[in-house]
Amino acid sequence: MNKKTSKSETQWQAELSPEQYQVCRLKGPEVPFSGRYHDCKTVGIYHCRCCGEVLFSAIHKFDSGSGWPSFWAPIASDKVATQPDLSHHRQRTEVTCLHCDAHLGHAFSDGPTLSQPRYCINSIALKLVSESHNND
Ligand code: FE
Repeated sequence: MNKKTSKSETQWQAELSPEQYQVCRLKGPEVPFSGRYHDCKTVGIYHCRCCGEVLFSAIHKFDSGSGWPSFWAPIASDKVATQPDLSHHRQRTEVTCLHCDAHLGHAFSDGPTLSQPRYCINSIALKLVSESHNND
């Protein structure tokens, strides 16, 4: 069951860094190639930085050359939501965490194959838990 997380803006501001809050809650942009995961090839699971929900797997990650971590699918269909985003005089599709409504990035139709989308996600909205993290 997906139970929604609902926190006040004050709570999110207290829990997140100013940069995380700006992107995840205020839908601010992340500068391309600035994040920690755009070039990351570590095997593991990417969690929502805000609520901890599992969102993406490294097995669905590909190098899009965009400067943001890119995935051709979420880890499961009930983890992320998409909706139209008409801001900045553009027609885009926003991707959010279904559990806590965090802004994650945008989805585009130019995935690694013609039939696959590209989930273009901000590094700062993610937290990678590597598969080997318990084996050290
Ligand atoms: Fe979340």
